[in-house]
Amino acid sequence: HADLGALDPEIAEQIDNELRRQQRGLEMIASENHTAQAVMQAQGSVLTNKYAEGYPGRRYYGGCEYVDVVEQLAIDRAKALFGAGFANVQPHSGAQANASVMHALIKPGDTILGLNLAHGGHLTHGMKINFSGKLYNVVAYGVSEEDHRVDMAEVERLAQEHKPQLIIAGWSAYPRQLDFAEFRRIADSVGAYLMVDMAHIAGLVATGLHPSPVPHAHVVTSTTHKTLAGPRGGIILTNDADIAKKINSAVFPGQQGGPLEHVIAGKAVAFKVAASEEFADRQQRTLAGARILAERLSQPDVAAKGITVLTGGTDVHLVLVDLRNSELDGQQGEDLLAAIDITVNRNAVPFDPRPPMVTSGLRIGTPALATRGFGEEAFRQVADIIAEALIAGPEADLSGLKTRVEALAEAHPLYPDLAPVSK
Ligand code: PLP
Repeated sequence: HADLGALDPEIAEQIDNELRRQQRGLEMIASENHTAQAVMQAQGSVLTNKYAEGYPGRRYYGGCEYVDVVEQLAIDRAKALFGAGFANVQPHSGAQANASVMHALIKPGDTILGLNLAHGGHLTHGMKINFSGKLYNVVAYGVSEEDHRVDMAEVERLAQEHKPQLIIAGWSAYPRQLDFAEFRRIADSVGAYLMVDMAHIAGLVATGLHPSPVPHAHVVTSTTHKTLAGPRGGIILTNDADIAKKINSAVFPGQQGGPLEHVIAGKAVAFKVAASEEFADRQQRTLAGARILAERLSQPDVAAKGITVLTGGTDVHLVLVDLRNSELDGQQGEDLLAAIDITVNRNAVPFDPRPPMVTSGLRIGTPALATRGFGEEAFRQVADIIAEALIAGPEADLSGLKTRVEALAEAHPLYPDLAPVSK
């Protein structure tokens, strides 16, 4: 049973198909990235066999001497990378990191105040059928109808009115920075905890390209696989020793059993990479690419089709395309870009008149292309291709654009050393 290709050709074939799909196309889903081969090596290691309930030095299983070192390295690197006094690196995902924080700090029936899902918030920030919406009394703030930016006056008004126990700042689809200091001031004024979910922007924060929430929030959660470019997973940071204790017990045994030490090893590798100059350069190209895309999609030829960019630009790694005044809907936009091997996702925009399965928006991100080596010139070409495709619409012959996508993909090889696993 040594070899995947021999043992399970059906699975091996799909892994190879997925590798070729990633190599052939341009990945522009804002929450995705291409993690380092070294991270995948760590994830594919014997660490997957090990039970390690507990924390380094305090385990409920024997034989943890090596995974203890792994997890402690991940903790120390996360603390150093984000300037935090405490890190828990065990959450299996961003959703579980958020669930753990809520279990640690508030009780069922308490009130949480988070960004409206339809305005860019995440499921775990209070969506009705998510645990957060079922266990807690949810109040949602939104963006203003004029400028589509988070309305801090509304946050303050809702906080005063509903006296939440927890305020959540953070988003899954929002193109601007949040004012973490102001969120904290509001939280303090009503005696609420402030949790910042920096899942999307962690790579930018790690490199100083986005203000850090760590000095302001009681607790910061993140995924490790978006701009941070690590394995799929979550982390929790805080500077408060009492909160740290509660978080540790909320993650294990509160929320999870055995930690995924192979993934934690991958997180440690990713934190090491994130402290490098190469990574800082990559995050700068990520931001530059998003700005180039926003500028291109704000040009008159695009606007003539009723297509604009939400908030008129971006400060982060993504652009939200607003199709509310366009004949093209989100589903059609996603499909026509998919037809030329550019992967994006349709996304509801605030005050979206179309149903959630269709939407009037596209969320387009640059992290994966920056990882692939894209610089400003290549991003200009991608931006042109996307603009031309959206202008041409779903009925047009897009084969010329697809050829240009293929050329860009070939010029930026992805995982050139990764061997196929099927026979
Ligand atoms: N928080 C935010 C802001 C997110 O955007 C996401 C993922 O989309 C998550 C949490 C959840 O992460 P995961 O998919 O790892 O559970």
